[in-house]
Amino acid sequence: MTTAVQSPHIGGAEVARHVRDNIIPLANLGDMLTVVGLLATPVEARIATALAWRGRTRADAVRFGHATDVAERMPELFTLAQESGRLAVDHLDLVWSRINRHMSTVPVSLTEETRTGLDHVVEPAVVSWLSENGEGTCTVNLADLRDLIDAVLLDKAPGLYAETARAERDSATLHRRGRVLSLHCGNELTAAGIDRALTDKAKQMIAGLRHSRDEADDPGALPPLPTRNEIKAQILMGMLGDDPETLTVRINLFRATVDDVHGTGAAYSPEVGWLDVEAAERLEDLARTSPNGTVQVLPTRRVELPSTEAYRWPVLVQMAAESRDGHCRFPGCTVPAVRCEKDHIENSPHTDPTSNGATELENVQNLCPEHHRVKTTRLWTCNSPDGGHTVCWTGPNGEEHTTYAAGPLSHFYRDDPDGPVD
Ligand SMILES: [Zn+2]
Repeated sequence: MTTAVQSPHIGGAEVARHVRDNIIPLANLGDMLTVVGLLATPVEARIATALAWRGRTRADAVRFGHATDVAERMPELFTLAQESGRLAVDHLDLVWSRINRHMSTVPVSLTEETRTGLDHVVEPAVVSWLSENGEGTCTVNLADLRDLIDAVLLDKAPGLYAETARAERDSATLHRRGRVLSLHCGNELTAAGIDRALTDKAKQMIAGLRHSRDEADDPGALPPLPTRNEIKAQILMGMLGDDPETLTVRINLFRATVDDVHGTGAAYSPEVGWLDVEAAERLEDLARTSPNGTVQVLPTRRVELPSTEAYRWPVLVQMAAESRDGHCRFPGCTVPAVRCEKDHIENSPHTDPTSNGATELENVQNLCPEHHRVKTTRLWTCNSPDGGHTVCWTGPNGEEHTTYAAGPLSHFYRDDPDGPVD
């Protein structure tokens, strides 16, 4: 195989195809063979065996233990994973943890039975989703798989889902070990919201410090800049005894409406995925009653969204794009859409006189800053055959990957301008 890759007779595109078709599945296959080996090991010895075989960290061995557990519980899914090469150990580990998350409130005597019940709804859903969404994709996006499993569990076991959410909400703790303070926020949404707010604030502070260094007479004499984590810790310490007003936690939430005023049912947050009805109600109430909260009704047909001659994206189009995309549209990336930049899929004439890309939903995609740069430098190029639902990427060596919109409104903004497609 190495010879084939190095052969001067093979062009860049062929090498890329070879890598995609052979090496990537083989990488998955290697890990999958470890899982197959672990299947023959007793459950209680799996993690220790994985540690001995791979010699990496305990966290890595635990991942393999979980994946093997799922392989045993969901044989049809595991067979498909092996054959398609589109699921790796990380995906099986994710299936394990999305189900196991709900075991915390189940009495021990019912754990086995409940887990089996959840397995029986999750496995067929993932199997049919994989067969329906198979074209042109390499490995499955982890955020899409997480959202699919959560949506199935929310639909089939809403009571249990709400019970877990309630337990997580009530379990915030703060521990101190030596110099390290760890804040466990219970609820994932709170954790993601706080982390994002801390990161934004830390970025501002670092920019401020850089600026004052540039202004200083002798920057070399100043102490080195703190790292972003050090700044985050400073902000948290300040909050614990200082001024909580300095931190704003913003949470974006998408929810269906039947009366064009109030939300109904579960909600989707691009930061953490699906939330149960109770959490959705609470957050919508907060948005309505807090001074900085807003509730915006989004049209579900893309023809109702504005189009503009300008370069800047109308706010409504940005929100629609976030709810359509869910996360960054670059292959494999899971950065939530709310933290992405809005990119003209076909360049705007404002930045590229040879191009004529419009500023409208059909021509926008969410890209995280890193992948936006990758596209701007034209290292990777892309186009969309259907107004943003499908994005086809071509890499520097001719490798091709396709990604699909995966947010809660992706079905509504598909190609058919007459209405939703299911
Ligand atoms: Zn990205």
